[in-house]
Amino acid sequence: MDKIDVKSLYLEELEALLKEIGEPKFRAAQIFKWLHSGATSFDEMTNLSKTLRIKLSEKCYIANVEIVRRLESRLDGTVKYLYRLFDGQLIESVLMKYNHGYTVCISTQVGCRMGCSFCASGINGLARDLTASEMIAQLLAAQKDNGIRVSNVVMMGMGEPLDNFENSVRFLKLVSDEKGMNIGLRHISLSTSGVVSGILKLAEYKFPITLSISLHAPSDEIRDKIMRVNRKWNVSALLDACKKYQSATGRRISFEYALMSGINDTEECAEMLAKRLKGIMCHVNLIPANPVAETQFKKPDKKQITFFCELLNKKGLNSTIRRTLGSDIEASCGQLRRKEGCET
Ligand code: SAH
Ligand code: SF4
Repeated sequence: MDKIDVKSLYLEELEALLKEIGEPKFRAAQIFKWLHSGATSFDEMTNLSKTLRIKLSEKCYIANVEIVRRLESRLDGTVKYLYRLFDGQLIESVLMKYNHGYTVCISTQVGCRMGCSFCASGINGLARDLTASEMIAQLLAAQKDNGIRVSNVVMMGMGEPLDNFENSVRFLKLVSDEKGMNIGLRHISLSTSGVVSGILKLAEYKFPITLSISLHAPSDEIRDKIMRVNRKWNVSALLDACKKYQSATGRRISFEYALMSGINDTEECAEMLAKRLKGIMCHVNLIPANPVAETQFKKPDKKQITFFCELLNKKGLNSTIRRTLGSDIEASCGQLRRKEGCET
């Protein structure tokens, strides 16, 4: 019999499980609290009887991540982790310190099958989805390793969260549970390459999270070349979904735009972008593209990036250039793992 992934269970599900093994309901709340405050084994749950701890460990397992490498930036204190999962798979997370607290960028899949041309995470495709508990474990490990509390989460590491929809939704519900990590949904961003079916499904939940769209190009001509997903859902379909998402949730949308020299950084691109995003309450995050060893593109020079940003703002589009953190530690996701010789 397969063991139950106990940290992926909602409190109600845990209560049902406890009932099944003849234990009172309040035990579920105790276990839930242990799990979401970082217990990595049932033995740590000292307010449970030894018999119950044994019973639980026979029936369930606790998903943990093991730190394989820890790189700390000397420039800004950003910490990048390479974690090993129970089956030997490797994933990455980044811990960033801002004035308002600690933000962790988590992975949602091992690898990614979307195949964007500029991204290191997708080079060898998807190995597997992460469970909700493995997403939570990334936060708990960063908290424990640094003796801090995480206040913000961005689902912007390796993987496409909307290609792992059920587990991502489960993660959002669990991580924001008052009895769990209690990280408010307003403090969480989910980034997608433009999986329209997922955006529309997510809209139904009306989570007050920030939806980030990795747009990176204003036209199908360019986007088709750099993001395969555009051939399934083009820019119009994507922006229509964004409008629907916005009217369902009332939330401002964040558009990510990684500037690549000679590809998407021209004046014409800025003008087209401003035109297409008109009518959407949004913010554009300009990111100087991170060079990836296996790819060809380069980031534009500073002058071009500032020019692009100013042009967007002049056209009435709220846009800023993202501060790069951890530039000395391979901060762009997927790169550290490849360095480690991982081929998935
Ligand atoms: N799969 C999701 C979330 C993970 S990728 C998505 O694509 O949105 C997180 C962000 O990093 C995305 O905006 C992605 O486009 C961006 N990204 C990937 N490779 C990059 C690179 N080499 N330089 C800059 N941004 C990159
Ligand atoms: Fe996957 Fe996002 Fe990378 Fe595209 S940018 S390959 S969707 S992780």
